[in-house]
Amino acid sequence: MTKDEAHPGKKARIAVAGIMHETNTFTALRTGLADFTVAAGQEVHAVARWKGNVFDGILGTLDDLGAEAVPVYFARALPSGLIEAAAFEAICDRIADGIAGCGPIDGICLALHGSMCAEGCDDSEGELLARLRAAVGRELPIVCALDMHATVTAAMIAHADAFAAYRTAPHIDEYDTGARAAKLLHEALATGRKLVNEWSEIPVLIAGEQSETGVQPMRDLMEALRLEERAPDAGPRSASYLLGFPWADSPFGGCAAIVSGFEEERAELRQAAGRLAELFWAKRQAFAFSTEAALLEEALDLAAGEPRKPVILSDSGDNPTAGASQDVTLVVQALIARRAERALVATIFDPAAVLACETAGAGGNAELRLGRLNPYETAPSPLPLHAAVVRTGTVLDVNYAVAAVGGITIVISDRRTAVYDPAILEALGLRPGAFDLLVVKSGYLSPAYKALAERTILALTPGDTDERLSELPYRRLRRPIYPLDEM
Ligand SMILES: [Zn+2]
Repeated sequence: MTKDEAHPGKKARIAVAGIMHETNTFTALRTGLADFTVAAGQEVHAVARWKGNVFDGILGTLDDLGAEAVPVYFARALPSGLIEAAAFEAICDRIADGIAGCGPIDGICLALHGSMCAEGCDDSEGELLARLRAAVGRELPIVCALDMHATVTAAMIAHADAFAAYRTAPHIDEYDTGARAAKLLHEALATGRKLVNEWSEIPVLIAGEQSETGVQPMRDLMEALRLEERAPDAGPRSASYLLGFPWADSPFGGCAAIVSGFEEERAELRQAAGRLAELFWAKRQAFAFSTEAALLEEALDLAAGEPRKPVILSDSGDNPTAGASQDVTLVVQALIARRAERALVATIFDPAAVLACETAGAGGNAELRLGRLNPYETAPSPLPLHAAVVRTGTVLDVNYAVAAVGGITIVISDRRTAVYDPAILEALGLRPGAFDLLVVKSGYLSPAYKALAERTILALTPGDTDERLSELPYRRLRRPIYPLDEM
């Protein structure tokens, strides 16, 4: 594998690969190879690339720029626990072997999450980048698209030439981020200039639910990034805030500012990274839940007292989109104790319960031992339920059962799955807008759920994704860090 000399008019040839996993180290779940959706070579277009995602942004933009994109290998999984060491090795090998086998290339463009941890390897993106760098040499440019919730490490900075990160949370700019990474790499190749990073760590631990970009202080911070990039031909080419991932007990935890640009402007990039870090630090006390937040019983009281329906309550301590096990039944138990009516809970992960409902059939009754009540017990303590089976069905390859206990409807799945879109509930024959209360296993709500809700409440429930960060059993996290420590 060699870097071709830049020839004017010659089509740049870019290897494109990715691995995206956000790893929660507090859950007992492990992530194996089978949990990843993987695609190699041309399969990527059908399997890993869909309209508007980061791979689409990279591949589509390289096409638009007249470069030749060579898709190599992609792996993406729902957030969950540590990646098994063998799975991580297998994915790294496939990316490295794929790049080695794709012929002469001019650069590499990667889509990474940035907060991935494998067994025995806290800095998994840093490790992957170090291996690729060792294989391709110092000169070949490597540019990465990152999730905003990336945990930046010195190894990542050392082994990649530039980064572009999401600027929206909830993330609705995956395509734009992939496009910015592709353009950055293309600009470097077209001009023959060398990309470099400057960065500044920010010792702040923050949950996504306190840093949505539609509200302050994130709105101003995102604007500050754009201002740093305002000169069209000089200075920072890409400025990013990375917010880290608080549900990982990582020695690298916390936020960072990265500014990427060209080598001859390194001093200016360093100043910009310092400015961005200072601005973020100055605003650290302004981060707050952008949704009304309350402990579970208070949240249920607030929901019950709200005349406008539906109210959507996030069971935030058991949020699969941040890697939780999605099987905690505390809210179901609380709703039963309150004899709630017209309440819907979506979704509890419990394959045995789905099977029991399938066996009983629609209209039948099933004795369920659902999920686990105590999120901190390793031995399950399920919730016994006598449930009426409403229906069973399959949506997007996941088998679901809809069961009712009194006025409470419970959606159960045989795989952990994010219910980003109420359309999934509609596909199961439910009318989400017709319930008084929807409980979703989520942190901040997707735009589709926000649009449906008359009022949204973040229930601060216990679990693998407890929003009360001071409750989490950190042992390896670097200290001091705000707000856990006085700073
Ligand atoms: Zn994210």
